[in-house]
Amino acid sequence: MSANLDWLQRSKQAVWHPCTQMKQHETLPLVPIARGDGVWLEDFDGKRYLDAISSWWVNLFGHANPRIGAAIRQQLDTLEHVMLAGFTHRPVVELSERLASLAPGELGHCFYGSDGASAVEIALKMSFHSWRNRGQAGKTRFVSLQNSYHGETLGALSVTDVAIFSDTYAPLLRQNVQVPSPDWRTAAPGESAQDVALRAAAVLEAHLAEHHAATAAVIVEPLVQGAAGMAMYHPLYLQRLRQICDRYAVHLIADEIAVGFGRTGTLFACEQADIAPDFLCLSKGITGGFLPLSVVLTTPAVYADFYDDRVAQGFLHSHSYTGNPLACSAALAVLDIFAADDVLAGNRRKADMLNRLVEPLKNHPRVRHFRQTGMIWAFDIDAAPPAFARQLFAAAMRRGILLRPIGNTVYWMPPYIIEEAHMRLLVEATLGALEEVLTHPGGEGDETVVP
Ligand SMILES: *Cc1c(COP(=O)(O)O)cnc(C)c1O
Repeated sequence: MSANLDWLQRSKQAVWHPCTQMKQHETLPLVPIARGDGVWLEDFDGKRYLDAISSWWVNLFGHANPRIGAAIRQQLDTLEHVMLAGFTHRPVVELSERLASLAPGELGHCFYGSDGASAVEIALKMSFHSWRNRGQAGKTRFVSLQNSYHGETLGALSVTDVAIFSDTYAPLLRQNVQVPSPDWRTAAPGESAQDVALRAAAVLEAHLAEHHAATAAVIVEPLVQGAAGMAMYHPLYLQRLRQICDRYAVHLIADEIAVGFGRTGTLFACEQADIAPDFLCLSKGITGGFLPLSVVLTTPAVYADFYDDRVAQGFLHSHSYTGNPLACSAALAVLDIFAADDVLAGNRRKADMLNRLVEPLKNHPRVRHFRQTGMIWAFDIDAAPPAFARQLFAAAMRRGILLRPIGNTVYWMPPYIIEEAHMRLLVEATLGALEEVLTHPGGEGDETVVP
């Protein structure tokens, strides 16, 4: 590296990196990034990497997007922050009204947090508290799907089913219930994705028929279970889920933290099932990857459960940066881009284009379950070598693309500004990296099945 990067060596000590066994960085160097530009991340030698996973799924419209940057800059000169208890400001009101008008159903009340996990905590607490305020304090349990991911704070982790994250902390977690995932890869011979959805819904129904009096809510990632390896399922499951939750008076929490903001082809994934949840959790793409922000939208019925003369009936939850004006202005700029550029229509064309280019990958003898929903593509590698994820990451980086496989699942979640030339590089480099790793599967490995 030509630039003076004496700080790079210190990063291993001073910074404890997320989702990482730090000792692996004895052999796998950290990648110092100097700047971002559209789909590209650039290191200090000017080498560029196509960010095919939108930096953990947050970066919708490219790095250093000038429109989002300009909106934040303008807000910066006006009001950087004010506490949201007892005070308010224009960006948070505008954002709440616009989200409510875009979301399905009647989700007219927005409660803000700073990251995805805190949005999940808010939804879980609000659901329980709303039943309690109605005199049903026995509804204390939550149901989630097998292979679900809802974040890693203790409450969110207790509805998460990814062993590498949750097993260690099991003694600290609430006992919740996991029901089968409608993941279509679990289809028996002759079964369709709809059949799998109906089979999984029947198990949920049987559970709630027995336990509804103790259950506050069911929480799901609509259409795509992200962190467990991009498991995709039929919208019929969500329709059944809504009916079952209504039948047994249980809340439905839609965690659209990963799939919201156009990722599955519609602005919100729930739209594809034509349903509205009782709680909608949003984060990740909400600011286009510029600033941390999350929000939970809920219904007039839930809001009314807290509206009372008694303070303790209120939702007394708070985070210091709740509704930060800079983050809200970034989110407003994101919504402006969706409207001005008709992003959803553009994404349909882009998805068609990439679907035409992927044939060689689809037909690769080691590729299984090639799948796509909206702007998410994924496939599994048959008999993947032990350290596959790390090796493929390294082989892809050498070819100028950023991939981060989850176990033996390779996926793309590109920024929506991706163009045809980038797609060609993406397919070619992914194929090349695969060939390299599968023909030279070096390395023992403690395989890290982390997203
Ligand atoms: C990423 C994610 C979360 C957690 O969000 P953080 O901002 O990482 O805390 C929760 N749910 C889903 C579906 C996610 O993908």
